[in-house]
Amino acid sequence: MTTPKRSLRKIILLGDSGVGKTSLMNQYITKKFRPQYKSTIGADFVTKEVHIGDKLVTLQIWDTAGQERFQSLGVAFYRGADCCILVYDVNVLKSFETIQNWHQDFLKQVNPSNPETFPFVLIGNKVDVDGGNSRVVDKTRAENWCKSKGDIPYFETSAKEDYNVDAAFLRVAQISLASQ
Ligand code: GDP
Ligand code: MG
Repeated sequence: MTTPKRSLRKIILLGDSGVGKTSLMNQYITKKFRPQYKSTIGADFVTKEVHIGDKLVTLQIWDTAGQERFQSLGVAFYRGADCCILVYDVNVLKSFETIQNWHQDFLKQVNPSNPETFPFVLIGNKVDVDGGNSRVVDKTRAENWCKSKGDIPYFETSAKEDYNVDAAFLRVAQISLASQ
């Protein structure tokens, strides 16, 4: 047996306050959902190891600590990001419209050499709410936006019911690994 090749990838979570970024991260890392999270997690990031083929990838996931309200996250947050997860709430139109700004802001801050192919993943969270009846952004609209930005992968999730959360983060691991 050979030792798997190790690599580290910095992942950042962006999106409006309240869309479920911290809940998604906690569900992924700890398999738990708590109705209330403190806006700060007391650390800059959490890590999780994932096997992709013969590689062992350490995902270093950076969550905002409430500063997203002011749309100013500081350079340290963005610096060296390998993948950006954009999160909105399918029940809140504004949170989807703002995705455009988060996407733009990310590209401005990080200034990647190939902005067209930089790995993003879009997540539409909280699909469980009201059995889907209070949803205001339909899937096609989100998918069309993703296509217009160079085929960004799109996942619909529920951090509360642990629906599609692993699948979304697995894709994050795959595309961030493939990108270097
Ligand atoms: P953040 O500000 O983006 O980090 O959002 P939080 O993770 O703090 O979540 C904001 C609120 O939405 C909290 O009350 C969460 O419990 C709730 N929440 C997060 N994800 C879901 C979800 O998938 N379904 C439902 N019903 N509530 C969620
Ligand atoms: Mg949060």
